[in-house]
This record gives sequence, C-alpha cells and structure tokens, in this order.
Amino acid sequence: MFFKTAKINEFRLWGLLFMLGGMGMMIFGTAGIVFFNNTAGRIFAGAFMVLGSILMLVSVGIYFWAGMMSTSVKTIQCPECSKHTKMIGRVDRCMHCKTKMTVDPSIATDLNDETFEPAAGKQDTVTASAPPQA
Ligand SMILES: [Zn+2]
Repeated sequence: MFFKTAKINEFRLWGLLFMLGGMGMMIFGTAGIVFFNNTAGRIFAGAFMVLGSILMLVSVGIYFWAGMMSTSVKTIQCPECSKHTKMIGRVDRCMHCKTKMTVDPSIATDLNDETFEPAAGKQDTVTASAPPQA
C-alpha cells in the first residue's frame, strides 16, 4: 500500500488519479492538432484519445471495484475513535483516525507488518527467531 490511509480510500484515490490521467492524456492529444500539421496531428490526437479512454475505463473499473468491495467488507467500530469504519483484509487503517487495525490476533502486536507496509522500518516482533529457552 502506498498511502497511509484506509484501503477503501486508497482505491478511490487511485480511481481519481486514473481519471485525471485519462483527461490529461486527451487534452495533451488535442494539443497535437494545434502543433502538428493536419494528418500527423490527427493521428497524434487519436492515439492519445484512445489512451485517455483506456485510462478512464480503468478508473471506472477501480471505482466499480471499490464500490462492490465496500458493500461486502465488514463494518466495525474503531477501538481508537469509536466511529464506524470499513475494513478490507486482515490489516487495514481506520477511515477516520488512520489507526492500524487487524483481525488476526497473532499479528496484533506487530505494528510494522511487512505485507502492509514493506518500506517501513522493521520491528522484529514477528520476524525474529524463537526466543532462547533456558
Ligand atoms: Zn478510528
């Protein structure tokens, strides 16, 4: 995950980014008509129009997927801010206060779970080898 927010919000953010990217592509393509001569400009604009449409379709797909997911995920009450939030997968963040939450008790103490934030500094609570036993 790339942003420190709830997954459902992140999907919406990606949808928005793809939508803006698609629109930008189309505008960029249209500029080709202005700067090139007639035929080349039309090919240029056509190519970017197609690319832009694909990006728009992807964003619609992401929105659709996020919508479908938000109807099927479990809604829980955040232990931190006691608001209702939606949770996707084993580990997710609260939509309101960004607190990390998990439904798996075995990783509950591991605040830097690798599957959740690969780039974050590691805490050796989970990856460490078994404690020495006397
Ligand atoms: Zn919360």
